[in-house]
Amino acid sequence: AVALGVPRVPAPRRKSRQVLVGDVPVGGGAPVSVQSMTTTVTADVDATLRQIAELTAAGCQIVRVAVPSSDDAEALPRIAAKSAIPVVADIHFQPKYVFAAIEAGCAAVRVNPGNIRKFDDKVAEIAGAAKDHGTPIRIGVNAGSLDPRLLGKHGKATPEALVESALWECSLFEEHGFTDLKISVKHHDPLVVIEAYRQLAARCDYPLHLGVTEAGPAFQGTVKSAVAFGVLLHEGIGDTIRVSLSAPPVEEVKVGTQILESLGLRPRRLEIVSCPSCGRAQVDVYQLAERVTAAFDGFPVPLRVAVMGCVVNGPGEAREADIGVSSGNGKGQIFVKGEVVTTVPESRIVETLLEVALERFPA
Ligand code: SF4
Repeated sequence: AVALGVPRVPAPRRKSRQVLVGDVPVGGGAPVSVQSMTTTVTADVDATLRQIAELTAAGCQIVRVAVPSSDDAEALPRIAAKSAIPVVADIHFQPKYVFAAIEAGCAAVRVNPGNIRKFDDKVAEIAGAAKDHGTPIRIGVNAGSLDPRLLGKHGKATPEALVESALWECSLFEEHGFTDLKISVKHHDPLVVIEAYRQLAARCDYPLHLGVTEAGPAFQGTVKSAVAFGVLLHEGIGDTIRVSLSAPPVEEVKVGTQILESLGLRPRRLEIVSCPSCGRAQVDVYQLAERVTAAFDGFPVPLRVAVMGCVVNGPGEAREADIGVSSGNGKGQIFVKGEVVTTVPESRIVETLLEVALERFPA
């Protein structure tokens, strides 16, 4: 139903091996997946499952839960069994929880090598257990918890330090014949993130989990993540993404989905083409665009909807939209593919748009 004005050529993808996180393939040409992380106390199984259900409804494909205590580790079997999407256990400090997560049937385990005490001694055992259960492991390096040895060597969390940490930990698993790995090298600075993942992409073929860590509140975090992921994904680097925001995790999923849609890496569902408004506007464009966005949320077919502030340029500027409105004189001209189909009072714009859309673009 969507008339696209520009060619949507998917970016060429880096060749990576594939790991299976539950039923979600990551790498090896699989579509880039969107993930997020719960903010509930993992041991509160009901609250955690409720949040996972919200994330699933928003389009989240893989969910991670933090496992900082034995109560959390004990909750994992119930969460893994009841979640509709694969659950990844996030383990810092305690190797014993890695075994618990694998036993619990988690779809993957994330370990932060810099934070797991005596991790190196445990690699053989972890690799054996993960192999037995077919559980992939993410080596999740974070700037804030870089191995002190590498911090000393590089002076700070440079791209080189992050990459060296990740590849070192991978090599420990490789020594035990375990290569069911994916990697992340996160930093709060998008430029460091871009450089680190470029280096990593050139030096291994493991699938890469992209992330800008501690990216900040919703607005700043969205921009930082979009910048870093946009560059990397357009270069074909990245197999799964997590947007980190100081905001409810559903927002992370929405932003991640938008990033993939904007890059042509997944089909767009709803696109609102709204004008910025200007001195010619005869309606509150900001408010109208918000109301139209809310009304079309979940529309059954992909659609490009235009919201234009005046009739002078409205339909012409939005000719590539499937449907749209331009306002003026207290009225709204509803147009389909650039042709005006009806004119209604301003109070009826949103409902009429929806009615016409349902009629002209049925599921
Ligand atoms: Fe201005 Fe009209 Fe263009 Fe909106 S559509 S930016 S109101 S000229």
